Amino acid sequence: MKNYSRNLMPFLANLEPDEAGMDPAEVSKQYGLALDQILVLSRNENPYGPSPKVGEALKHVQMNKYPDPEPFLDALSRYAGYPKENIVAGAGMDEVITVMSRLFLGAEDKALIPIPTYTFYSLAVRICGAHPVYQQRLDDFEVDPEMPESLKMIFLCSPNNPTGNALSEKTVRRIAESTQGIVFVDEAYAEFADSSLLGLVKEHENIVVGRTLSKAFGLAGMRLGYAVAPEWIAEQYRRISPLFSISGLSLAAGVAALGDVEYMRNQASKIIDERERLKRCLGGAHPSQGNFLYIHTQGKSGPVVERLLSRGVIVRDCASYPGAAGHCIRVTVGTPEQNDRFLEDFDWANGQGAS
Ligand code: PMP
Repeated sequence: MKNYSRNLMPFLANLEPDEAGMDPAEVSKQYGLALDQILVLSRNENPYGPSPKVGEALKHVQMNKYPDPEPFLDALSRYAGYPKENIVAGAGMDEVITVMSRLFLGAEDKALIPIPTYTFYSLAVRICGAHPVYQQRLDDFEVDPEMPESLKMIFLCSPNNPTGNALSEKTVRRIAESTQGIVFVDEAYAEFADSSLLGLVKEHENIVVGRTLSKAFGLAGMRLGYAVAPEWIAEQYRRISPLFSISGLSLAAGVAALGDVEYMRNQASKIIDERERLKRCLGGAHPSQGNFLYIHTQGKSGPVVERLLSRGVIVRDCASYPGAAGHCIRVTVGTPEQNDRFLEDFDWANGQGAS
């Protein structure tokens, strides 16, 4: 018998796959609930979806041709306010993170990840054979700007998933200036925040800002991510990224969505209003700059999450985030009706823990 598995890279052998949280079909089966009754508030999706112009644009895509990413890059350049030389794109920001990590990380390199945060950075670092260095965030979830030495990359999520807080320009500048490494600033939720760190790319040759159309633009299913990077990094990125990783349909959707920024802003502002309403109604929610809230539960989060599941409401149990406390959940802001349902069910599920 040949042992083909011995060809596997040894450092990949113990990796845990990333997970997207409870699947609605599974919850429906497990709790005997109709699938259309399941409310998914665990993935930070946009309940309103994209501009209606997207559907129209999809009708005109030539599917027999390899796609041309240039119109999408042009549209991103206009939206981000940076020349095209500074823009790179990928199939979701996850691909952008993967390719960026490939550029800078190799065996035994170190990348700093302030936790709790988005879990995918750790996987991206480890598939390069490099090591994540976890740094606990401070009490208010700020990042300690004192960086250890010899880091090749630093991943800063702002607004941070799952805690919702944004980092100040001052903090990110300090970090960028005090390290020899590359600072990847993840702004997946920028459109829901009061301010952005995008301007820092102009000033620093080691800052890259990642963005996505999955959240405010409502296109999570289309897998569209991008980064604004110093020219020298963007140039290197283009050399190693797959030429056609974004499908023609997705590119057309992206161009149409970026052509209707007003629609996106209207939906984002509805979500922000609802976020603030939800926060006022909930005792234990942290201030958030994203389309989600980080909420303290009365006891351990696990049983609260289970009770919510029994009523068909899926939220994210943050106990699974390295560095997070065992009594927090993350809930995506939905439509007003969805949020009302969440408030009622959460009140019950959380209250049960106290009795
Ligand atoms: N960064 C953060 C902080 C996220 O929460 C997510 C998705 N949930 C991503 C990146 C990945 O986004 P995309 O859908 O563009 O791959």
